[in-house]
Amino acid sequence: MKTGSMRIAEISVPAIRHNVRRIREHTGGTVIAVIKANGYGHGAEIVARAAIEGGAALLGVTDLEEALALRDAGIEAPILCWLHGAAADFDAAVEADLEIGVSHLAQLEALAAAAGRAGRRAIVQFKVDTGLSRNGAAPAEWPALFARGAELESEGRVRVRGVFSHLANAGEDNDLEQARRFDGAVELLRAAGCDPDLIHLAASAATFSSARLHYNTVRVGVVVYGLSPFADRTSADLGLIPAMTLRSQIVALRDVPPGTGVSYGYNHLTQGETTLGLVPIGYADGMPRALNGGGATVSVAEHHCPIVGRIGMDQCIVDLGSLGRKVRIGDPVVLFGDPATGVPPVEVWAELMRTINYEIVVGIGSRVRRVAV
Ligand code: PLP
Repeated sequence: MKTGSMRIAEISVPAIRHNVRRIREHTGGTVIAVIKANGYGHGAEIVARAAIEGGAALLGVTDLEEALALRDAGIEAPILCWLHGAAADFDAAVEADLEIGVSHLAQLEALAAAAGRAGRRAIVQFKVDTGLSRNGAAPAEWPALFARGAELESEGRVRVRGVFSHLANAGEDNDLEQARRFDGAVELLRAAGCDPDLIHLAASAATFSSARLHYNTVRVGVVVYGLSPFADRTSADLGLIPAMTLRSQIVALRDVPPGTGVSYGYNHLTQGETTLGLVPIGYADGMPRALNGGGATVSVAEHHCPIVGRIGMDQCIVDLGSLGRKVRIGDPVVLFGDPATGVPPVEVWAELMRTINYEIVVGIGSRVRRVAV
């Protein structure tokens, strides 16, 4: 840990490289690493570089702003972004050579107009809705959208590089139904005269559940970070390594008698004589306040010590139990990381909060320094 930093999300670059290589070996196709929302909270720039080093051919983000920030940071790899506001700055997108997920005709026209102003071709990937009922062109819009795409391509104003859709993860039958509709979209696009290089439907869960859904490209997020999208399969089961280790330190120690009230509301009273350790990380940093009392532990000196009492905005308290005064101020604390190293996995928090690992890592606050290791 770097001196002075009380809260660090250590991001393992080798783990991200390994995970992307693992995905490539598993599918045998192109990998788009999804690094939206600050690389699922890991730090978009760190993840971008590591994912490219691991063999990702493209990066995927939601917003133009996220993509432009990556360009500003010097990331030159192809970047796809797919959710645009009504006044999206497609001029900047064309200038930055971004690949634009296009969901409707007005977007395609706006992009083609921007390409015309720039005197260069815009790169399009059609986003089609095959059953998620979210972003993406509805089937009724496909014929007109694809015909116009083909026309603009023949005029040299756009290049239709890809077509993609997103699964609802609503079960195997639903996946197959969406895949059949997606096949129909691809066929229609080809019949219109386009020849897209990248055909992608699968995100993480489908990538590790069915080769039928791989097509020639997968567009994966959570597995890049070494986390499992499944409740019943761990990272290790999938051959992945969790990339984030959330670290802090002990900044104060207090020996207390039995029955001592701990933190706001005294919803924890110490059972016996013990030593409490103060850890300067709290709900402002993405540690869920409602974890309180649920039995989550942190790792201190290779022991798992329970978090006790209510979690504050900036700090929480751990019961050091039998470790007592063997712990010193400044000793490291690991809140979660790769369980193969003996620390709790992020899934403990996710399960206690009845949510998914995605929400925990993406919620790690901006005050926590991301450090590539
Ligand atoms: N593709 C799209 C369009 C998404 O919105 C997301 C994330 O939600 C992903 C791919 C990556 O999903 P996952 O992290 O499950 O791989």
